[in-house]
Amino acid sequence: MILDRERRVVYINNAFSKSFGYHLSDVIGQVPTTFLIAEQTNADALALWRQNLWGTEGFHVDLPARDMEGRHIWVSSTVSPILDDDAAVRNVVVFLVDVTRNRLIEMLRRDILEKLAGGMALKDAGDFLCLQVEQMAPDIVVSILLVDAEGRLRPLSGPSLPARYCAGLDGVKIGENVGSCGSAAFLGEPVLVRDIATDPRWEPYRYLELPHDLVVCWSSPIKQRNGEVVGTFAFYFREKRGPDAWHEQVVDACLHLCMLAIEHSETKGRIAQLLHFDPLTGLPNKARFEQDMAERLPKEGRNTAFFFVDLDLFRDINEVHGHSTGDLLLVETANRLRSFLLQEETAYRFSGDEFLVVLPNTDAPVASRRAQQLLEAFASPVVISGGALVPSVSIGISLFPDDGGDAGTLLRQAGTALSQVKADGRGSYRFFSPRMNRIAQDRFIICSALRAALANEVLQLHYQPQVITNGLALHGVEALMRWTDPGLGQVPPARFIPIAEDLGLINMLGCWSLRRACRQMTDWREAGIVVPAISVNISPLHFCDPQFPAFLVGVLAEFRLPPENLTLEITEGVMIHGGKRTHDIILAIREIGVRLSMDDFGTGFSSLSGLYNLPISELKIDRSFMRNVDKDSRALALATAVVRIGQSLGLTVVAEGVETEEQHRVLIDLDCQVAQGYLFSRPLPAPKLVEWISKRGRVPADQLSV
Ligand code: C2E
Ligand code: MG
Ligand code: MG
Repeated sequence: MILDRERRVVYINNAFSKSFGYHLSDVIGQVPTTFLIAEQTNADALALWRQNLWGTEGFHVDLPARDMEGRHIWVSSTVSPILDDDAAVRNVVVFLVDVTRNRLIEMLRRDILEKLAGGMALKDAGDFLCLQVEQMAPDIVVSILLVDAEGRLRPLSGPSLPARYCAGLDGVKIGENVGSCGSAAFLGEPVLVRDIATDPRWEPYRYLELPHDLVVCWSSPIKQRNGEVVGTFAFYFREKRGPDAWHEQVVDACLHLCMLAIEHSETKGRIAQLLHFDPLTGLPNKARFEQDMAERLPKEGRNTAFFFVDLDLFRDINEVHGHSTGDLLLVETANRLRSFLLQEETAYRFSGDEFLVVLPNTDAPVASRRAQQLLEAFASPVVISGGALVPSVSIGISLFPDDGGDAGTLLRQAGTALSQVKADGRGSYRFFSPRMNRIAQDRFIICSALRAALANEVLQLHYQPQVITNGLALHGVEALMRWTDPGLGQVPPARFIPIAEDLGLINMLGCWSLRRACRQMTDWREAGIVVPAISVNISPLHFCDPQFPAFLVGVLAEFRLPPENLTLEITEGVMIHGGKRTHDIILAIREIGVRLSMDDFGTGFSSLSGLYNLPISELKIDRSFMRNVDKDSRALALATAVVRIGQSLGLTVVAEGVETEEQHRVLIDLDCQVAQGYLFSRPLPAPKLVEWISKRGRVPADQLSV
């Protein structure tokens, strides 16, 4: 188009007429802005065109024009003024290039990227792309197939193809002569099948009944950045022809868009994986649990059990052995949970050492069987960082729908049941029941009752004999606290001692039982009853109190008790919580001459170096080691190992929980010096103990235990 100095049209060429429909007579004498430029042209582009058209400098701008019919044609315009000798504009030459197609591709690109960024699913983005392309290039039908990790075709989109045809391609293995798409994916290059009806590569797929009017198929592989083929993008033509330049341009753009879309969806998948799975153990996490429950629970008209699983003493293990050992233990826990799971059951890791197992189709009897199996799954030792440890778990159970109708309630109830297990001494399972809930809420009632008990001397000590295994002479007695509350009834120590520890009452309790035990020893001595020694259980928290050794000296003096007649039973918690100060307090106690005994050995994270470094004279082997010791060779091997540990360190070894003559026999064979358990006697009130001692005095030693 050529304009005069007034910017009026003086000439248009044939191409202009062909593109825009005007003849010279239609436009001559008109300023082009009045007929050429579409109304909704971006204001900046239009202003630029208008202003600069009147200047003396050339310029270039893309903008939508309209033809004689009002249809839009994207043009790239280059405007060049021609100056006369006075540097005034004599004519203006306007070159217009139809860039509609480029523009279409650009818009397609923008739309797809916007949709992906907006979170559109891969399948929907694929359908959208196919439909857009079918509009841009009429007379073709588009399909997108994915290729999975095993090299099988997975149809993604083909909105204009029959669904049955697409479904028929699902799972077809790619290969050198597998239709157009299978071959393109296999070869990694475009494949053009010019006649679907006769091409041998299509032979096996003709039964899929592609619509008859689709005669040519041109498929191109979608490749990732690393060159790996992840899908195919295919054009089906309705006439026998190959792709033209425009088709190639569209396919080029689409392959790139498909690659981006697939990559984006994989990233999304990975992010979902990160959001929903615990990276350490690979188990689904709490967020995933909530999602699963929101989807499943309302529909699940069936019984479902929730196991809240917690690793016992995990915090201690972490503190003593470091976090990497802790991590290994968590991974092992997850592995054991995985192998425990039956079909449909799911394990989640919530946080730290908290796991949740959901068991569909599980009522109370089945749940209790599964819980028992879960405990057994944790009974074998784990070898970590060169040491073996028997992990122990506690399980709190709630049941849908009995204990609640939504995941939040069920979790809370299972958590309540779990704290009940912990309070009752760990390593076991419990169901939630409203009664348990009440007990939890009544914690502070126990607290005030306990204060009252201390003040009113309601607490008692019972004494359980410890005997020399060989000959059954009395080695000493262990003082065990008993509390019968007028309102609460008998409260076992395993129930109230942890509460006393939490509430800061434990030091008071400990002092009370020490004084009570020492006074009892004096009473016995004055009555001429021979009790060689008394053991008192002392909470680890006492060993943080610098006043404790002085208190001990005071009590011994008050009751004129030789220090060697008193043994303090401590637990591994002392080593675990202990810093330098604790160690100093322990040394001071040993200095006084009081003996120290390591109670419940083998249940915690039995630390040999701890045993070695503390001035301990006695090792009490936990009663769990007595279980099956006479029946099962592995139990025997374990018990033997623990007894030998004590013996090799020169400690007096006391076996707890001896209930049968067979267990007693095993201990004699092992040369384990001292035994304690129901076989010999239950813990007894002081007068009964005196009876027990005097009765035994009259029985020949070889019949004592029978
Ligand atoms: P522990 O020190 O290991 O005490 C041994 C526990 O095992 C006692 O339970 C005893 O009754 C029980 N037992 C003894 N022989 C057998 C047997 O043959 N079979 C079975 N199944 N059990 C047996 P109890 O009296 O319920 O005490 C539980 C725990 O409470 C004690 O375990 C101890 O850790 C703690 N405890 C008891 N009294 C006191 C106390 O005065 N102060 C502190 N800090 N803790 C105490
Ligand atoms: Mg004890
Ligand atoms: Mg014990």
